[in-house]
Amino acid sequence: MLIDLRSDTVTRPTPGMKEAMFSAPIGDDVFGEDPTVNALEEKIAKMFGMDAAIYCPSGTMTNQIAIRLHTGIQTEVVCHEHSHIYLYEGGGIMANSLASVKLLPGKLGKITAAQVADVINPDDVHAPETTLVSLENTMNKGGGSIYTLDEIKPIQALCQENGINFHLDGARLFNALVETGESPADWGAEFDTISICLSKGLGCPVGSVLLGSKTAIKKARKVRKVFGGGMRQAGFLAAAGIYALNHHVDRLKEDHTRARTLGTILSKLPVVSEIFPVTTNIVIARLDGLSPEVFMGKLADQNIKSVKFGKDLVRFVTHLDFTDEHLIEFEKRIKGIF
Ligand SMILES: *Cc1c(COP(=O)(O)O)cnc(C)c1O
Repeated sequence: MLIDLRSDTVTRPTPGMKEAMFSAPIGDDVFGEDPTVNALEEKIAKMFGMDAAIYCPSGTMTNQIAIRLHTGIQTEVVCHEHSHIYLYEGGGIMANSLASVKLLPGKLGKITAAQVADVINPDDVHAPETTLVSLENTMNKGGGSIYTLDEIKPIQALCQENGINFHLDGARLFNALVETGESPADWGAEFDTISICLSKGLGCPVGSVLLGSKTAIKKARKVRKVFGGGMRQAGFLAAAGIYALNHHVDRLKEDHTRARTLGTILSKLPVVSEIFPVTTNIVIARLDGLSPEVFMGKLADQNIKSVKFGKDLVRFVTHLDFTDEHLIEFEKRIKGIF
């Protein structure tokens, strides 16, 4: 039995999800005529109390569309130095939007309003114009750390005061919300645009959604087209998204419980010096005296997959296809190998 903890993207559609996909009414979404895509976009926009949404093939695309909407030549994006939009989107901020980036440090991948206030550029001929602040929740590189509403509200107020757009990379936002008990609408009220991945913890094979105002999403349709993301009978895929929103949100808590146990098991290994605080479905282990390559090689010999996450870090992510049975197996297999 393979134990695949590389990412929460490795899940396969459940029988219920497949049934929903196969029976979805479809049409041509580039003409705006796919009833299932339209239903998904309306459903999620309503959940977040936002005007509109657009369905896209990936979270990279929804983030990059948002960045394109909020920036341009000689402008600047402010974000944490470990943000997905900066580290893992192929240099897209420059490649797609020709914008500059200001990177901020911060514990567990999080930044504060005071830090942002310090780096908003003055209206000066030397400086790019600060037009966007982008946050990530949960924060992948922070070990799935959570921003609470109280933490982001001062950043929102600062952006509003200074006429700066505010974007959320909410690839795993639902993982945060099931822990804090905050509602999607609470978050929708704070941001100009929010990107949500359906293909992570929610268990869809494909798909992300960008939320925003009517005007923003109308522009986003043009940008999606030029990025090559206009899909035709995409309702087959969007149906998985509707199914996931109905059936796979509350169960994220199970992934978090298993992640905590996984963290405890890993913390007992003599080669692990630190486990980042486990608050959602991501476990990051810091190694001592062993390289990630050797550590991961030994796990691979036991048919356990993980990913390197820094020079002495390894990441494990729990998900829909990682059950209690897998967890018990995991503990058994790593006994005595280090
Ligand atoms: C996965 C992820 C994305 C989007 O990734 P895609 O693979 O392009 O869907 C964006 N932000 C974060 C934080 C992610 O973890």
